[in-house]
Amino acid sequence: MNAVIDVQGLSATYGFSHRSPRVLDGVSLTVARGRTMGVVGESGSGKSTLAKVIVGTLGAASGTVSIEGADVMKVARSQRRALRRRVQMIPQDPYASLDPRMTIGRTLLEALAPTAARATSHRDRIAELLSMVALEPGAASRLPHEFSGGQRQRVAIARAIAVQPTVLIADEVTSALDASIQFEILELLDRLQDDLGFACLFITHNLGVAARVCDEITVMRHGRVVEQGDISLLAEPADPYTRLLVSSVPDPEGRFLHGPSRYDTAPQS
Ligand code: ADP
Ligand code: MG
Repeated sequence: MNAVIDVQGLSATYGFSHRSPRVLDGVSLTVARGRTMGVVGESGSGKSTLAKVIVGTLGAASGTVSIEGADVMKVARSQRRALRRRVQMIPQDPYASLDPRMTIGRTLLEALAPTAARATSHRDRIAELLSMVALEPGAASRLPHEFSGGQRQRVAIARAIAVQPTVLIADEVTSALDASIQFEILELLDRLQDDLGFACLFITHNLGVAARVCDEITVMRHGRVVEQGDISLLAEPADPYTRLLVSSVPDPEGRFLHGPSRYDTAPQS
């Protein structure tokens, strides 16, 4: 498989002492171009920490992260930044992730050209990005508070795809949104993935959502991978913890875990 993101034996802690607990412990996963890997597990299982280590905001205690075949820690420092930019993240909270004083256009401009940004040279690209996430061109001159949560999440998605990443990490991107809006955002991500071909690491505590959007799944518990494979494993999990997670999904018939995935029906929650 041609993995664009390849994580091997990743361990991490938040403390500096040898006795600091391992919040990630030997996590490995790969995601190919155009594919979506779900990462599920209860709150505190280490999902967001995994995202932080992959995007580089938290150092790894051990293990490797490779992007398009290049080990992030082995490439020259000068190339590391460019390599990291190939991985973009959509944060969970669309209210906290946008600078309230910055217009949407400015936010996108800074993503496109972090230094010496020239508004005119990027105007077309900003309009294009807004249209890709189904926002009006006029959105560029407005401030985040003028937008709903779902619209802000569209802006966050536009910002993430601005630099044409090969990997997109979505960390609980629909958790703060109403059910109908969740569905729209999931559809948007799916369509963008079809068009742009990025590999997606889709982090969620919601197994119903995972079953719908993911091709493969990694089940985490206490910082470790307890089960991993094709999304269909949710229908017959081998691991008792996965079984517990599946059985706690609030759908008495388990319909959306067993039936066809990828948007056949609207999400339940
Ligand atoms: P998840 O995203 O699966 O809910 P997290 O990765 O956020 O889990 O957290 C995993 C563990 O790391 C939890 O025990 C959490 O309390 C701890 N943790 C998360 N962030 C920090 C932090 N900044 N400092 C110390 N511990 C943290
Ligand atoms: Mg989290």
